[in-house]
Amino acid sequence: MPAPFEYHAARSVREAVELLERYGSEAKVLAGGQSLLPLMNLGLVQPAVIVDINSIPDLDYVRSVDGTIAIGALTRHATLEHDAVLRDRCPLLAEALALIGDRQVRNRGTIGGSLSHADPVAEIPTVATCLDAVMHAEGPAGGRDIPAREFFESYLTTSLQPAELLTEIRFPQTNGGGVSFKELVRRKGDFAIVAAAAVVELAQDGTCTEARLALAGVAPTPVRADTASLRGQKLSDDVLRAVAARACEGIEPESDVMASADYRRSMAPVFARRALAEAADRARVHP
Ligand code: FAD
Repeated sequence: MPAPFEYHAARSVREAVELLERYGSEAKVLAGGQSLLPLMNLGLVQPAVIVDINSIPDLDYVRSVDGTIAIGALTRHATLEHDAVLRDRCPLLAEALALIGDRQVRNRGTIGGSLSHADPVAEIPTVATCLDAVMHAEGPAGGRDIPAREFFESYLTTSLQPAELLTEIRFPQTNGGGVSFKELVRRKGDFAIVAAAAVVELAQDGTCTEARLALAGVAPTPVRADTASLRGQKLSDDVLRAVAARACEGIEPESDVMASADYRRSMAPVFARRALAEAADRARVHP
C-alpha cells in the first residue's frame, strides 16, 4: 500500500509546472505509473503530492520537424513501437521499444517517464545517449533544451529540476545506414544486464563514414563510447572486436541481484561487438 498522498490532475503544462513549483520536492509527476507506482507500493518513494499529467492534451505525438523526430513526453511505448514514421526515420528507437517489458507495460509506459526515471539499463535512455537526443523541459522560468549528455546525471537521477516537466524529446532522423540494439536478458522483457545500441553508416565502397555506440549496465548512466577510430576503415570482424574491447576499457559496472560486476565487465564488449556488427551488416544491405 502506498502512503497517503494529495492528488492533482493537471489540465495543461502550465498548471503542472505551477503545481510542481508550489509543492517542490514533495511532489512527483505521474505519467504511465509503470515505475513510480511500484516504487510507491514498496514504500521506496513517498510523495506527499501526485501531479497526474495524463489529462494534458497535446503531449502525445510524433512529428517530423527540421531533420528531427519530435515526440511528446506522454507518448506511450506501444504507440511509438507501431509508428511508421519512427520505424522509417528513427529505426534504432523503434527496435529498442519492442524490448521494453511486456505489452501491458508498453501500453501504459511513456517515453517521458522512461527518460525522467533514468534507469541506467533502460532501453530509451540508451538510445537517447547513442543518438544525442535533446530533451525539452518546461519550468517556471520557461523552456530549455537539455542534450542527453547533460540530462542523465547518475542512477535514477537527471538534471531536471523539481519544478520542471519534460514535454518533448527530439531524436535526429537517421540518414541511411544500419542500426542495432542488443541486450543480455535472462528472460524476454526483463531489464537488461548489459545492452549496446549502435549506428553505422558506410560509403559506397564499404568504408565507414559514421559510427555511434552507447552501452548500458556498465555505469550509473548509459555511456557513449568513442568510435571515432572506425571512420575511414573497412569494418572487418577484427576491427569491430578491437573497437568494442577498447570501448569497454575502464568501465566500472556494479553488482546487483541480476549479475555481478565481473559478469557485466566480460559481457559488455561481446554485446558492443554484436551491435556494431549487426549495424554494419544492415548498412551493407541498405547503405
Ligand atoms: P512513471 O512511472 O509515471 O514515472 C516515472 C518517473 O518519472 C517518476 O519519478 C515521475 O515523477 C517522472 N516523470 C514521468 N513523466 C515525467 C515528465 N514528463 N516530466 C518529469 N518527470 C516525469 N523499462 C525499460 O526501459 N525496460 C524494461 O525492460 C522494463 N520492464 C518493465 C517491467 C515491468 C514489470 C514494469 C512494471 C516496468 C518496466 N519498465 C521497463 C519501466 C517502464 O518502461 C516505464 O514505463 C518507464 O520506466 C516509466 O515510464 P512511466 O510513463 O510509466 O513513468
